Amino acid sequence: MIKHIDDHYPLVEEDRLVTEELTVRQLTGRDESHLVALSGGHRLQAAAADAFLSLQSMALEEGYQLAIASSFRSFERQCVIWNGKATGLREVHDDQGREIIMARLSPGEKVHAILRHSALPGISRHHWGTDIDIFDEAAMPDDYALQLKPDEVTEGGIFDPLHCWLDEKMAMDQSCGFFRPYGIDRGGVAPERWHLSYAPCAVHCESACSEGMLERILAGADIAQWEFVSTYLPELLRRYTEVPVDWCLKRYRN
Ligand SMILES: [Zn+2]
Repeated sequence: MIKHIDDHYPLVEEDRLVTEELTVRQLTGRDESHLVALSGGHRLQAAAADAFLSLQSMALEEGYQLAIASSFRSFERQCVIWNGKATGLREVHDDQGREIIMARLSPGEKVHAILRHSALPGISRHHWGTDIDIFDEAAMPDDYALQLKPDEVTEGGIFDPLHCWLDEKMAMDQSCGFFRPYGIDRGGVAPERWHLSYAPCAVHCESACSEGMLERILAGADIAQWEFVSTYLPELLRRYTEVPVDWCLKRYRN
């Protein structure tokens, strides 16, 4: 939940703790000292990493090779993605996977097109070290290029069986604390069945993200389309950052 009034936060105090464990800098992807390494160059908070390894072992017993495509992502990396998309250096796709011709769009249309699939720097759940994009390595044919697109994870897709198994485990609270913040299309971020979030840590990160903090950090960065973003920031955060409170089971919520 994004807080809309931020009177208690007159300055960005970068090293102030905003959760029990994370500083402003860590929460926004500009300090990586809270992370531990997993194989494949991936990094997560220690508790999330342990939980992932447990979930991976459980999956293996069922014949799934649970693998991470993306874990922690830095503020700097998210800036490269955002600015690349906003300036036409990176492709932006519609819900059907077709390329959008960005040069034809107004600033507002550009921002909405990007936010459907990519977060603003400072706001990505991948900054927290709690969130991962996953796939089933055992289901991939040789030399298959992973895409993380809807047809891979919906009915008939190569990763659908893994996700159906995960759905069952989540419903029974046997998914080691992992749930789906973007499971359903609510008109903001496109559904991402492959995106899992470690609820015991992520719920604290969610409530620590305040509008004032994000605005100050973004204002000091080089963000393409900043004029539009800064004007409509509260609306953009509500639509593209907030997730339904029931994304995870009740016992994990604050
Ligand atoms: Zn993701």
